[in-house]
Amino acid sequence: MDFAYSPEEEAFRQEVEAFLKVELRDPEDGEDAWEVRRTFIKKLAAKGWLTLAWPEEWGGKGAGHMMQLAYNEAVAYYDAPANDIGSDRVGPTIMLYGTEEQKQRYLPPIVSGDAVWCQGFSEPEAGSDLASLQMRATEDGDEFVINGSKIWTSFAHKADAIILLARTDPDAPKHRGISYFLVDMDTPGVTVRPLVDMIGRHQFNEVFVEDVRVPRETLLGEKNRGWYIATATLDFERSGIQRVIGSMRSYDMLVAYANETKRNGRPLSANAQVRAKLADLKIEFEVGRMLSYRVAWMQSQSIVPNYEASVSKMYGSELAQRLANAGVRIMGLGGQLAPGSPWAPLLGRFEELYIASSALTVAAGTSEIQRNIIAGRGLGLPRG
Ligand SMILES: Cc1cc2nc3c(=O)[nH]c(=O)nc-3n(C[C@H](O)[C@H](O)[C@H](O)COP(=O)(O)OP(=O)(O)OC[C@H]3O[C@@H](n4cnc5c(N)ncnc54)[C@H](O)[C@@H]3O)c2cc1C
Repeated sequence: MDFAYSPEEEAFRQEVEAFLKVELRDPEDGEDAWEVRRTFIKKLAAKGWLTLAWPEEWGGKGAGHMMQLAYNEAVAYYDAPANDIGSDRVGPTIMLYGTEEQKQRYLPPIVSGDAVWCQGFSEPEAGSDLASLQMRATEDGDEFVINGSKIWTSFAHKADAIILLARTDPDAPKHRGISYFLVDMDTPGVTVRPLVDMIGRHQFNEVFVEDVRVPRETLLGEKNRGWYIATATLDFERSGIQRVIGSMRSYDMLVAYANETKRNGRPLSANAQVRAKLADLKIEFEVGRMLSYRVAWMQSQSIVPNYEASVSKMYGSELAQRLANAGVRIMGLGGQLAPGSPWAPLLGRFEELYIASSALTVAAGTSEIQRNIIAGRGLGLPRG
């Protein structure tokens, strides 16, 4: 079986790679990292790559899933800040469930890279069991009045709009009383409070929603059917190849480091344990890549991946952790040095990956939840 890209797809992958080598850069001292990221995203938008697989009718390039995969693989390998909630999740969900007016209003600013969206799903008491969410939306004439709070909302402090899940029928079974809203962040009553993570970054937030009045036109899909729309958004979120390929460059760097670094006059890579670990990881990356290809292939055949997306998501995020663990061990004490230390091997990349990768098995559904999905939907096992 040949898993290679077609000549056209491979040529495009190389075009993207060449673009990244020129355009991708780290923020310089004193520069706002967010501004650098958005400027880069707008460059992707200008090339039509941000919404590559979207239909031309909605400003996309109508590229097939395999072309999109070739693009995703290139940007993930270079760890480019190319993932954008609007283009990856919100736009595709609106295309599936939105009215004509909602598509006209919300899609063009996503295509141009102007609109920044955030995802208001998790609540203090509703993460894994998302359907138990307590945010309330009550109908009042042609409006809904929303009250409640969200947590862990990535980049809410930068976003123009939020996808909000709120309970519209408190008496219905929990999955059947939820609605999905598209809300502007500057609507009176929406406030954002920062949550700083353990690396000192401000990405997460709490979002408080107090007597927020939104017109009926902000309801996406049918009232009380929001759960089923949210699962589509989550499927888009979990399907990406970036979880596997996103740490592959770090792996390649680790192999180069082991070859170039000498201990007692011999390269680290001559150590039997190091060689075995690097060989194991090579196999795992190949497996992860195939799992991601399978998800993309299913999408190209209009088959909705569900447990397959969970397999790929879980495997990729746990692999990043195994890689980080192997990297800091292979590097020895230096592997624990953070970026900024003049002695940190590979500029502290592995120390950072070690800490940052701990979030990967929580974000977009924990590994336990992915295993539950695989056991239930994939294997048909009874609920535990
Ligand atoms: C980097 C990152 C970014 C995020 N960004 C966003 C965002 O933008 N928007 C948003 O809405 N949310 C976001 N989240 C939140 C994320 O979706 C939740 O953290 C996640 O769903 C887990 O929910 P929780 O934190 O409430 O943990 P809990 O659900 O309280 O789980 C606690 C522990 O119990 C385990 N557990 C729970 N239920 C079961 C079960 N049935 N079987 C076995 N084990 C179980 C879990 O696996 C976990 O280990 C983000 C999280 C991270 C880490």
